[in-house]
Amino acid sequence: MLPREQTETCPQLILCFNVLAIVNRPKSEALFAAALAHIPGGVNSPVRAFRAVGGNPFFVESALGAHLRTVDGDELLDYVGTWGPAILGHAHPRIIAAVKAAADRGTSFGVPNPLEVTLAQRVKEFVPSVQKVRFCNSGTEACMSAIRLARGFTKRDKLLKFDGCYHGHADSLLVKAGSGALTLGQPDSAGVPADFAKHTLVAPFNDPEALRSLFAAHGQEIAAVIVEGVPANAGLYLPRPGFYELIARLCRESGALFIFDEVMTGFRLAQGGAQQLFGLTPDLSTFGKIIGGGLPVGALGGRADVMDYLAPLGPVYQAGTLSGNPLAMAAGLAALNELAATDAYARLDQLGQQLEAGLIDAAKSAGVAVQWKRIGSMFCGYFTDRPVWNLADALHSDRARFAKFFHGLLGAGIYLAPSQFEAGFISAAHTPADIEQTIQTAAKVLKTL
Ligand SMILES: *Cc1c(COP(=O)(O)O)cnc(C)c1O
Repeated sequence: MLPREQTETCPQLILCFNVLAIVNRPKSEALFAAALAHIPGGVNSPVRAFRAVGGNPFFVESALGAHLRTVDGDELLDYVGTWGPAILGHAHPRIIAAVKAAADRGTSFGVPNPLEVTLAQRVKEFVPSVQKVRFCNSGTEACMSAIRLARGFTKRDKLLKFDGCYHGHADSLLVKAGSGALTLGQPDSAGVPADFAKHTLVAPFNDPEALRSLFAAHGQEIAAVIVEGVPANAGLYLPRPGFYELIARLCRESGALFIFDEVMTGFRLAQGGAQQLFGLTPDLSTFGKIIGGGLPVGALGGRADVMDYLAPLGPVYQAGTLSGNPLAMAAGLAALNELAATDAYARLDQLGQQLEAGLIDAAKSAGVAVQWKRIGSMFCGYFTDRPVWNLADALHSDRARFAKFFHGLLGAGIYLAPSQFEAGFISAAHTPADIEQTIQTAAKVLKTL
């Protein structure tokens, strides 16, 4: 989810498209042409456009398990999983049944419904740092509200985020490092006033010195540090041992809040998310994606004394007409119940290991330099021989090569996210045979790069 200039600047791309086998998808092409007349860029979220890899997106008619069926009748093995939520696979029968049953009782009430309480309890059981939780409608809303809450609670204005981390599209979060990691932020999107962006400090990820100097200079003004459970919106890279502990300690010492953005990692890397894996107790956590079981849900939760600063108890305003929507609560609850009732995480990790081992071998025998990154069921292969620990490293990858790899796999019925800077997701509906088939196909495609 990198800004445009970082994902789309690739002069060689034009060349490589000329040699790509173009799969014929006439219905998708017609729909996309129509969409362009009605919807900016033809899509309702920019990452769905194929801008970083060339070509046009396909349209989906239905999805089941690990597969998408396009309007043109192609079956695709899906490693996007609706960008994370589909951890159980598409159209899981328990989730569909729960949504249907909820719909029969009405689609929205605007007054409290019992499912809100049940899902809140479930989230607290899964994630012990969450003492109270508020539901909203997206990960963006969750992060935006968590930051307002942290600012209201600490009575400070500054926010510290990391280069390459995405926390949704709220104003103060659309900021990258600019020319220097230690300088004040520049807006990343048109329409974000510089007066807002100046309150956002940006540090390179995995750089303890940069973090320490920002705290030394601004520690008493920092309301919160926000970081992803694992950075997975510039591909995927992992925290070095001790880095998250350092964030937690600097926050504690300076009175800033530690916000852990688990919109992607929550309920994916473990029942208790990345904070369970790393043994962290953040002040606030944000959730989205899996927590809605495929329906629009976000949530923020954490320390009760902080959460009670939210209206109507406290002075920080946060609201939503459809927040706690009964269909969305039912879907999220069914997803979390299913994850708790099965050995999904162990299985997902095994599938992840299988894919990783196979792809590393395949790249080696093809003589292609790839940095494979994986944690549990999340993965990314950067086309570079340089180790990747942060955004600057990730930007060394060969995006034209990724585009060829992407189209090679798509032509063979395997769908990765259409950008080098996105993570892939394995679902519990993937089988070892699916993974093996992916490895075989990737091995062939890698030899053509
Ligand atoms: C997807 C994502 C968001 C934004 O969530 P939306 O539901 O798309 O608004 C925020 N943070 C992280 C880490 C994400 O991956």
